[in-house]
Amino acid sequence: MKYTLPELPYSTEALAPVISRETIEYHYGKHEKAYIDNLNRLIKDTEYEDMELEEIITSSTGPLFNNASQAWNHIFYFFTFSPTGSHEPEGHLRKAIDEQFGSFENFKKEFEEAGVTLFGSGWVWLSKDKDGKLFITKGANAKNPLTKGLIPLLTFDVWEHAYYIDYRNRRADALHELWKIVDWDIVSSRYL
Ligand code: MN
Repeated sequence: MKYTLPELPYSTEALAPVISRETIEYHYGKHEKAYIDNLNRLIKDTEYEDMELEEIITSSTGPLFNNASQAWNHIFYFFTFSPTGSHEPEGHLRKAIDEQFGSFENFKKEFEEAGVTLFGSGWVWLSKDKDGKLFITKGANAKNPLTKGLIPLLTFDVWEHAYYIDYRNRRADALHELWKIVDWDIVSSRYL
């Protein structure tokens, strides 16, 4: 077994009520664990066995891409949250958001809208290119901006499994609530 489920830097109750303990136990403890188990099974005794996870994502297709990308995406997603984090971006990232989206409030609105309008399962992303330009993108299923040469900064999971326990069918509410637990110090550190 090459990849293991990293222990979260907060307790399973720490993000409630935005994300409940039950959701963390299922979404991270069961769904994410399954992606990692599948990834390990699919790379065993193949050319992918000694690759970095990002390299597998940018060089594979089909079930291997799906499981590798989902394994990466969920770690990235859950490691963006904190019960005590900074609620607004500062410094270079704040400046870039204000310049490109008009304001932080407007950025959040556009990001939520991208997530709400994604049909079916997938992810909404904030990424940057090599020049620091920001992009809001959405992608179906396991899609990840790494495959387009972008550097991900923030993602919200819009698969139903991410919100159905806590919000039932109310995806827009689920996405809107997530801002309360995004740690912008973590997102900003990815921008540098
Ligand atoms: Mn998920």
